[in-house]
Amino acid sequence: MSGREMEYIKNAFETNWIAPVGPNLQQFEKAIAEYAMVDDAVAVSSGTAAIHLALSLLEVQAGDTVFCSSLTFVASANPILYQGAEPVFIDSEPETWNMSPIALERALGDSFLSGKLPKAVIVVNLYGQSAKMEEIISICSHFNVPVIEDAAESLGASYKGKASGTFGDFGVYSFNGNKIITTSGGGALLSNNKEALNKARFLATQARDPAPHYQHSETGYNYRMSNVLAGIGIAQLQVLNERVESRRSIFRRYFQELSCLNGIDFMPELANTTSSRWLTVCTINEEVTGTSVKSILQALTLENIEARPVWKPLHLQPLFKNCKYYPHNDKESISEQLFQKGICLPSGSSLTEDDMVRILACIKGTMKLKGMVI
Ligand SMILES: *Cc1c(COP(=O)(O)O)cnc(C)c1O
Repeated sequence: MSGREMEYIKNAFETNWIAPVGPNLQQFEKAIAEYAMVDDAVAVSSGTAAIHLALSLLEVQAGDTVFCSSLTFVASANPILYQGAEPVFIDSEPETWNMSPIALERALGDSFLSGKLPKAVIVVNLYGQSAKMEEIISICSHFNVPVIEDAAESLGASYKGKASGTFGDFGVYSFNGNKIITTSGGGALLSNNKEALNKARFLATQARDPAPHYQHSETGYNYRMSNVLAGIGIAQLQVLNERVESRRSIFRRYFQELSCLNGIDFMPELANTTSSRWLTVCTINEEVTGTSVKSILQALTLENIEARPVWKPLHLQPLFKNCKYYPHNDKESISEQLFQKGICLPSGSSLTEDDMVRILACIKGTMKLKGMVI
């Protein structure tokens, strides 16, 4: 927390605006839209809810297909299943680790020929880095397929000077506890289509028709963010740029110490983009370094330091075992390679120099140890 959250929470309590609406909620939505420079934003209970609303607005239903990045957290694709639709997973490419425009084009070409284009493409901006949005938007517009930009991990990042999350027909942010800023739990749906977002507000509050009695003609959801949590969001948004700066400086510290070692490569930052470096992520070449993701994770765990492997690609998940997958090319599945050798290093905005020294010593220690055995 930044310290100013309590002011807004206190205000919500004192004025008795708790939920489902209130001045904090309105102010937070306005602040998100201003930050991202889009026409409107709807604050909801989670990033997952925001993706679900986007799919509802695009009328995704049973029997439809939706394309989605494979290398991501399961929340990117779960809402496809909520709608009874079928996900098709698209591989990553090496320059951003995000959706491969080449694989996407092949997949869209195939769907076009089979006479059944997807209802939407969900593009994820992993670990703070934007996907190749220009290429992806241009391919999708060619086939007239709408884009949902899952920017849950890239709030604070930019692509050619524009905020990440503002390139698709809809953008999604998450304010879950693990994200760069948080409302404890929460999310937002962004768009320049105000009419669609008003429909999202309607759907997010049980789709109540404008009648004095309770009348409903569509299936709605209970997805609105509470006015109390929106208060936390207002204060958090004020420190977003500082948080990005800390995450980027943590990245620089790792880079300084580890990038000179052969066999360690950091997640790239595409030209003309600024990654928020939500997480610092690198790949470990076992043969060259003499260590492995597994050994580093074990060594860090012994020191009570938490780190994680890179997301397990969704096309490899038991949940999605029957879904179609388009690799980057017929020789390489980039997401599978990244899953094999990628590690997410501790990256919290509040890491201290002492923490960094401990983490770095621990990582380097695994390399020395293995070297001695050889
Ligand atoms: C966190 C996350 C989500 C979901 O956000 P919640 O607010 O936790 O529902 C979606 N996509 C990605 C890539 C995420 O990392």
